[in-house]
Amino acid sequence: MTTVPPPAVGIDLGTTFSVVARLDERGQPVTLVNAEGDRVTPSVVLFDGEDVVVGKEALKAIASEAEHVAECSKRDVGHRVFHKVFDGRQFPPEVIEAWILNKLRNDAAQQIGPFGQVVITVPAYFDEVRRKATQDAGYMAGFEVLDIINEPTAAAVAFGFQQGFLDPQGSSTEPNRILVYDLGGGTFDVTVMEIRGTEFTALATDGDVRLGGYDWDQRLVDLVAESFIREHYVDPREDPSTAGKLWRECEDAKRTLSARGKASVACDYRGFSCRAEVSRQQFEEATQDLLDRTRFTTVQALKAAGLAWGDVDRVLLVGGSTRMPMVRNMLRELSGKEPDTSVAADEAVAHGAALRAGLVLARRQDQPATFTIHNVNSHSLGVVGTDPHTGRKRNGILIPRNTPLPVTAKRTFKTRKANQKSILVQIVEGESPSADDCTQIGKCTVRDLPPNLPVQSPVDVLFHYEPNGRLKVHVTVPETDRQVKTEIVRENSLCKEHMDGWRRYICHLEPTDYR
Ligand code: AMP
Repeated sequence: MTTVPPPAVGIDLGTTFSVVARLDERGQPVTLVNAEGDRVTPSVVLFDGEDVVVGKEALKAIASEAEHVAECSKRDVGHRVFHKVFDGRQFPPEVIEAWILNKLRNDAAQQIGPFGQVVITVPAYFDEVRRKATQDAGYMAGFEVLDIINEPTAAAVAFGFQQGFLDPQGSSTEPNRILVYDLGGGTFDVTVMEIRGTEFTALATDGDVRLGGYDWDQRLVDLVAESFIREHYVDPREDPSTAGKLWRECEDAKRTLSARGKASVACDYRGFSCRAEVSRQQFEEATQDLLDRTRFTTVQALKAAGLAWGDVDRVLLVGGSTRMPMVRNMLRELSGKEPDTSVAADEAVAHGAALRAGLVLARRQDQPATFTIHNVNSHSLGVVGTDPHTGRKRNGILIPRNTPLPVTAKRTFKTRKANQKSILVQIVEGESPSADDCTQIGKCTVRDLPPNLPVQSPVDVLFHYEPNGRLKVHVTVPETDRQVKTEIVRENSLCKEHMDGWRRYICHLEPTDYR
């Protein structure tokens, strides 16, 4: 009897919208529609008493019961809890993401049957804490997360597939250098990639995890609200449901402004109403600084890759917000090239993730790889030390950002006293020399050091970044063969026991082994 191989499924877990794709029988990525028949699912969750509703219905509820709706939970990933309280309950953001993933899994299963393995995408600029939280969300949604993949890389893989690069006959050995400009709903990523045949190599990456279409929406909300205040002396933003409704109207008007020169937004509050007309020019002026931030970051990434615009073959546009004409105009003027819109802005990332899932599953069955991905780390990794002069906590960088992955760095610590039993190492990610301005990954405790170590004995701590940007720590004590235990106690992370509880609650699945 032959066993049917599991489907290769990729999920683009977006800030505002999520997309699921799978590889069909011919190995082509296809987008799966959700239970409502749509190709994209709003990443919005409604807590309606004991019911948890995800997607379109939850998005609609923002206009009537905003206080029960969680939107943009991806923006809070890496924090201990989501910023809003629901009936006295506060959820970790990755738990809210798990509910979204659970809906995506159930809807997809209706078409392709039950499945449990996925690749989930993350912004390239996500730090290690956020990467782990995303994997945890996948676990709590009942998945085995085969891998996490950077969104711009996934888009580049989808682009390569479309161009025929992944077909060994069709692949060219000439390097193709592409700059992926990915402006989604809540995050901005820019990655410079080299595609050489079937090898995808990230040369540099940069971005902003709190910049996306949502910020453009908010500016439009402000424009309309200010015009409402001028007319009626009350601010419609003070009521959450009116603000929610206004946001939805403005998001819609923003899309209109990508196609037309003007759009109008209606707003009703406390018996007053107003219809504000906004021109594209007004909208662009009100959001120019947001665009400038992406421009600055794009230039930085190109510089970090050691390239000039003349070395870049294409500027690939990814993410729904790149439909705004101001983005295309800015990139055309900056790069001197016509931006490439050949990949589906909303779906390319999920397609790339499905291709990656296909690769991981093929490897598990000892089949040859059809393409390879080389990644870089998006943030510098450091350990915290104390400045002997100022007594301040300093970030001692061990692995600088944009280092090709995987990579291992070693730091030797010396025991401070005889017969010391443990060492505490504080790990951070970030570029600032001050440890307080960096992301706290956690404390790594080196336990069970061999007995009777003399003072000043060396202890080697090895920090290993995996190709997907996840961190592992190993410890060795030179001149002894004693096994030393380490564990990273994370600042804002759920323990396995809690995750198992959520897994049972959200998708009624029992715990499994989980790294
Ligand atoms: P993504 O995360 O790639 O799905 O991008 C979602 C973002 O793209 C949201 O902020 C949408 O409002 C935005 N978006 C989608 N279509 C358009 C459009 N035609 N014009 C402007 N923004 C858009």
